Amino acid sequence: MDVQLIKGKFTEVLPSIKGTLSTSTCIPSTITSRIFPLIENALFEIQDLTEVSIINVSDLLFCRRKVVFQKCNPVTQIDTYQSSYGKALHLAIQSILTRYSEEFEIEKKVIYNCSNFYDKSITQSIFIVGKIDLYDRKIQVPLEFKFPTLNGEITEPKPYHLQQLKYYMAMQNSTYGVLLYFPPEHDMQLHLISAFVVSVNDEELYTEHENLISNALTVHNAIASHDPAKASHIAYDRSLSWLCKTCPYSKECLSIRIQSNGFSNIAKT
Ligand code: SF4
Repeated sequence: MDVQLIKGKFTEVLPSIKGTLSTSTCIPSTITSRIFPLIENALFEIQDLTEVSIINVSDLLFCRRKVVFQKCNPVTQIDTYQSSYGKALHLAIQSILTRYSEEFEIEKKVIYNCSNFYDKSITQSIFIVGKIDLYDRKIQVPLEFKFPTLNGEITEPKPYHLQQLKYYMAMQNSTYGVLLYFPPEHDMQLHLISAFVVSVNDEELYTEHENLISNALTVHNAIASHDPAKASHIAYDRSLSWLCKTCPYSKECLSIRIQSNGFSNIAKT
């Protein structure tokens, strides 16, 4: 075995890699003839990797201000959004569905290039990335699994779950999507409790494209200027403000709110 290290910037390294590979007879020619030109083209479009901004779909669902705080001043925090029961069940369902990989794609990675839509005065490439729990290849519909921690009938989807699904629908240009809620059964028996089939018309889908881009741009601009005050917060949103209780940036956030609104009597978060 021979292992050769070639170091340097990607664009400078590429010719050396090509040169080394071209002397080898066992390297499939598609790597040099097809894949490398594609990578080069991608790099040419991006121009400079430092000019790329990546926003996760999940960054846009809850508190955008917290996302900006986190990027500018990272603090490790345990993710409490999904129970270990939910994670295990999630994995179990997905592993069973791998048997149907022709029909479904599990954990489909989606990338959305905002620069196809925004004003050309913005020089950075902004990508939104996400992972769809299950994607039906045939009918091109994203499906999201949700695992509520409390028992009880679910008669309507959580707004942030619905928003996540609609973002994925926009990213896939799909007018249909499905949200599936599973109960917290400790005996690991699977019971589907609620399924919501979501449909939008073309105009609504276009609005979701606009929301996605404008929210990503806002987060991007706030991160680029290291200013969490430029991003929206959820402190007064009844469905989400419970997140403030465990937010490591609650003091800084409160002082920004006091400064911008003068609401010094707001209950402390
Ligand atoms: S305190 Fe609440 S509103 Fe402020 S950053 Fe944290 S989660 Fe967002």
